[in-house]
Amino acid sequence: MRAVRFDGSSVRLDPAAPAPSPAAGEALVRTRRAGIGASDVAVAGGRTGFRGVMGQEFVGVVESVNGSPEAAERLTGKRVVGSAVIVCGRCDMCRAGLSGHCRARTVLGLHGRDGCFADSFTLPVANLVEVPADVDEEQAVFASPLAAALHTRQMFRVEGKPYITVLGDGRMGLLVAQVMAPLNARVRLLGRHAEKLGLCDKWGIRHRLVDEAGRRQDQDVVIDCTGRPEGLATALAMVRPRGKVVLMSAPAPAANPGAPVAAPAPIDRSPVVAGEIELVGSRCGNLAEALEALRRGSVDVLSLITRRTRLADGPAAVASAARGQLKVLMEP
Ligand SMILES: [Zn+2]
Repeated sequence: MRAVRFDGSSVRLDPAAPAPSPAAGEALVRTRRAGIGASDVAVAGGRTGFRGVMGQEFVGVVESVNGSPEAAERLTGKRVVGSAVIVCGRCDMCRAGLSGHCRARTVLGLHGRDGCFADSFTLPVANLVEVPADVDEEQAVFASPLAAALHTRQMFRVEGKPYITVLGDGRMGLLVAQVMAPLNARVRLLGRHAEKLGLCDKWGIRHRLVDEAGRRQDQDVVIDCTGRPEGLATALAMVRPRGKVVLMSAPAPAANPGAPVAAPAPIDRSPVVAGEIELVGSRCGNLAEALEALRRGSVDVLSLITRRTRLADGPAAVASAARGQLKVLMEP
């Protein structure tokens, strides 16, 4: 089968990759659509230490299930999305109901496990969620990033009409801004690209170029979706005393324990202390909740797709995502 692989120096199409074989409790999934995300760009940039088949975001069809007749009956032939984080079920985090923080986790296409940029791949059946019939594949492929965007709502309580700033006009910022906009809040998106910010006009969301926005420490919540080292400093200049900063994406992927990453930029911690700021990290989320939001049509994901291509063009597709394409989708 074909697979898009990072070999430590470049992204290549492997035309003769070995066909994966599901372990007990796993499904063999045939990829129908795959989306290129921030983690894939980080892998391709050599910033994660991962080598292998890339890819985390997918819609696929379950071909077979190894060892679970109930799951085979329920899932075979069905369209599914899936969580990229594979957990052990035995460590202290898993036993405490915090399996997303499993100490022995592997991550599809990022840490210890081949990903979905291939004709087929494997994943535990516990990770899979069936896609409702009225959600099409180009929407469903956004389930994972949308789940992460929805998860940020649980990171703070909305009381009254708080001022919320979303930093970053990339894939995640544009999703988070849409998720926040319907809350009883004053929401704005700040970014660096007029054409990406322009999408907010369609959604009725306030927006500005980040360099034109004041640093007045008057925002109740700032959600940093920039994925850039300077994002935190900008957030700290905008959040009010006793306010909250939510970090959506670390400059290097946080889901890759033990991997060598570039040294982080030094952070001036004094605004955190002086303003008694609360810093919170946020990642992953609930796929079923994301699929329901897509089914209701409460979030526009189709406007984020800027390029559609084929798996065979995977290396070029990943390169275009790294150059700033909003969302690149691949089909077989
Ligand atoms: Zn665990």
